[in-house]
Amino acid sequence: MSVTDEVLQANEQYAAKFNQGGLPMPPARKLAVLACMDARLSVDQVLGLKTGDAHVIRNAGGVATEDALRSLIISHHLLGTEEFIVINHTDCGMLTFEDSELLNRLEEQTGSAAVAPVHFHAFKDVAGNVRRQVARIKAHPFVPKHIPVRGFIYDVKTGKLQEVGEERPRAVQKSA
Ligand SMILES: [Zn+2]
Repeated sequence: MSVTDEVLQANEQYAAKFNQGGLPMPPARKLAVLACMDARLSVDQVLGLKTGDAHVIRNAGGVATEDALRSLIISHHLLGTEEFIVINHTDCGMLTFEDSELLNRLEEQTGSAAVAPVHFHAFKDVAGNVRRQVARIKAHPFVPKHIPVRGFIYDVKTGKLQEVGEERPRAVQKSA
């Protein structure tokens, strides 16, 4: 039996006991989360969220791509979310490669050059990546300034979230 068949069986059991058919569409806690897709990060459990509480947008690296921004903008403007959270995590797969080497490898393996994706958004510094995504979201003209956007790193060993603060501006270097 394939894993797909297994999860379909699990769904039959889920649906047999299902009692949440009356939930409204807008998230009850007015929260939207952009998180890495890592299998060890169960966003609802980590944040104590229940079905219907929040939007959870996920991709490799928790990156504020065009599509993630699209979802956040819809989340706020059409479905009423008022706070955004970005979650990356320790031991992320995005730390293990570089865009150019992955692209080269795939082109060699397949013998094809593809027009998309243009970027894989690999990174070398988790905190730096979180800061960049938070900054991108905050800077978007369709994201109102009153929406708090906070970034966190989830520790896959301890289950804890640590906030990533804004980097202090570097001291201006005096030229000699
Ligand atoms: Zn990850």
